Amino acid sequence: MFENLSTKLDRAFKTLKGQGSITDVNVASTVKEIRRALIDADVNYKVAKQVTDKIKEEALGQDVLISVSPGQLFIKIVSDELTKLMGGSAEPLSTEGSPAIILISGLQGSGKTTFSGKLASLIKKQGKDVLLTACDIYRPAAIDQLKVLGEQVGVDVYAEPENKNAVEIANNALDYAKKNGKKVVIVDTAGRLAVDEQMMDEIAALKKSLNPTETLFVVDSMTGQDAVNTAKAFNDRLDFNGVVLTKLDGDTRGGAALSIRTVVEKPIKFISYGEKMEALDVFHPDRMAQRILG
Ligand code: GDP
Repeated sequence: MFENLSTKLDRAFKTLKGQGSITDVNVASTVKEIRRALIDADVNYKVAKQVTDKIKEEALGQDVLISVSPGQLFIKIVSDELTKLMGGSAEPLSTEGSPAIILISGLQGSGKTTFSGKLASLIKKQGKDVLLTACDIYRPAAIDQLKVLGEQVGVDVYAEPENKNAVEIANNALDYAKKNGKKVVIVDTAGRLAVDEQMMDEIAALKKSLNPTETLFVVDSMTGQDAVNTAKAFNDRLDFNGVVLTKLDGDTRGGAALSIRTVVEKPIKFISYGEKMEALDVFHPDRMAQRILG
């Protein structure tokens, strides 16, 4: 995860080793190197500038008599600023409601169905009875995929393969959930390869009808700035509550993870880092910053 970025930041900090105090350090050149590393990682340019300006300001404002080495001090400043950039603290998912409804949105191939299965498994482990709902009315294979995942994690899957009305399917699923004592309903939806109006209309209609507890946007982190732009397009239309970043296991750069919160102003709630059902974590900005900084 983010190996390229970690290596470049490590290189930027190497120049600080052996320096006596922060005043001896060429703050400007170190900050420039950090900025270059972030931009190479596909971090949004404005975000990279904003965070490195802040790092510089913090570094120059330090008490020169402070006892820690400038290297450690700098890393601490960068770690704190990256943590803030990614939202500061974890934002929990709400599963309150009778039942709670979690609407899953995103492009085709982003990992929506896989995430739906993982989330169902996680909520089940927390002791709540979950229902997965297949609302991809275009790809019969998506229904089968959800059924396989449901079976794997031991969660019921609601589907109406002949019905082409996603709003109707979701509402029928809700009735089924109420009758069968399900506490959480996860609604997996259809995606397209790129943002298009019909897809947006459909997911917006689902949101309006269901009034979900949470609307999550799932995005492939490996797509960097495209992920950020897609998030913006979905948020403008859907006003979602949180982001799920997938495929972090294949993301060596980290641009989406570092930019999305600031650009879209919505928290990252989960990270997915593999195809296995266990490869899902609640997102903790501080842990991610520490990981990036090695
Ligand atoms: P959907 O079209 O949005 O429902 O996407 P899928 O859930 O079908 O996922 C598309 C592909 O990405 C599948 O082959 C998944 O196994 C794979 N996938 C999903 N999440 C991850 C992840 O976090 N890491 C990796 N490596 N693959 C993933």
